[in-house]
Amino acid sequence: MKFKKIVCTGCSLLCDDIIIEENDNGRIEQIIGACVRGKERFKSIKSQNRILTPLIRENDDLKEAAWDEALKKTLQMIEDSSNPILYGFSTTSCEAQAEGIRLARAIDGFIDSNSTICQGITLEKSKETGVTMTTLTEIINKGDIILLWGFNPIESIPRLLNKILFSRGKFRMTGREIKTLIVIDPVETASYKIMGPRDIPLLIKPASDLELIQALKKICKEEMEIPSEGIAGIDKMDLERLVANLVDSENISILIGQGMLQPSDDGDPLKELLELIEILNTVNEKGRVSIIMGGGHFNMTGFDQTALSLTGKNHSLQFKDSTLIDTEDNIITKIEKNDFDLSIIVGTDPISHLPLEISKKLVTKPMILIDNKKNSTYYVADVVLPTAITGVETDGTAFRIDEVPIKLTKLYDPPNDLPSDEELLIKINNKIKEE
Ligand code: SF4
Repeated sequence: MKFKKIVCTGCSLLCDDIIIEENDNGRIEQIIGACVRGKERFKSIKSQNRILTPLIRENDDLKEAAWDEALKKTLQMIEDSSNPILYGFSTTSCEAQAEGIRLARAIDGFIDSNSTICQGITLEKSKETGVTMTTLTEIINKGDIILLWGFNPIESIPRLLNKILFSRGKFRMTGREIKTLIVIDPVETASYKIMGPRDIPLLIKPASDLELIQALKKICKEEMEIPSEGIAGIDKMDLERLVANLVDSENISILIGQGMLQPSDDGDPLKELLELIEILNTVNEKGRVSIIMGGGHFNMTGFDQTALSLTGKNHSLQFKDSTLIDTEDNIITKIEKNDFDLSIIVGTDPISHLPLEISKKLVTKPMILIDNKKNSTYYVADVVLPTAITGVETDGTAFRIDEVPIKLTKLYDPPNDLPSDEELLIKINNKIKEE
């Protein structure tokens, strides 16, 4: 028997305390410490959905092809394109993301990651207010209040609360007993159901986050009293407890989910939440309030960091004449306007996760897919290039949910000598340079 310590790339928590127990034949006997989702990630090595050879579409069917042939077709499709879009890159390493950005620059393309419709929006909107961030270590060691706003980590990032709420820290020696969990959500999610006596469950009226945030901004600035009928479906007494905890605690972390990201006709809840945090950090004299964006893909944060370090912008990069130019577009608007003639999809499944009208438009143009498993996008791609599973069959760097870089280590060789995403993108970039 052999034991190996490894980072799990099942979600953006990137748990680095996973132990793999191998038998003498090098096969996994036991995965210790991982949640069900993490175990599935390791089991995906042998999944029936694995893509093991390149494929090219011929007469409506995907046919197996040799690597030379598939790469030749890929380069031809790129050469025939004058307006390519590249999308995905949130389940691969930062090194592959950097190669993707180099490819977009070389072919005057537009590149975006899943972050553009998720946590990347927060960085974008924080330009005026700034954003106070925190790390998981800080929450473990110093956290008093963990506020989940429209965020249900028990289902999306299963071990997050184990680590930050139930753990003991250097200055919070009794752990769970002195940390307060606040959940603001219109539904009783799984995270809502773990509330204890000292916690504050707040069931908000659907779509009234903006109303609550705007009221909290005024209450915290002492420009408004809490009305006797409450606000947004939350009663006065609960609101008083909420405000007291936000204003008087030493260390408050607000973790936000997808529901907070979309502006409505009445305003922009995320922008107003950032303004509320700015106000709280002024009126709270004891400590500070910070925010964590709850994206689930294991290296979505990494794309923001990689893009920022290479270009100064965290997403939605449009290149022209190999230079980054200004654009108001993101991946959705590009597809919506039919402003592309080729898509290169890396490690994501836009056909399943983008709105139906958008994915219908995406399939009208040629598509190259780089991925390790079959999904809905696989069945509509024109060329499929299979790669190794990042963090299991390749090493690299990824950024955890709290923007901390984590080194991924290779556990096994990939089947069929498959290249990593990074190696494949380097090969494509080199061939484009040679032409
Ligand atoms: S919480 Fe995420 S990173 Fe941790 S073991 Fe589960 S899937 Fe893996």
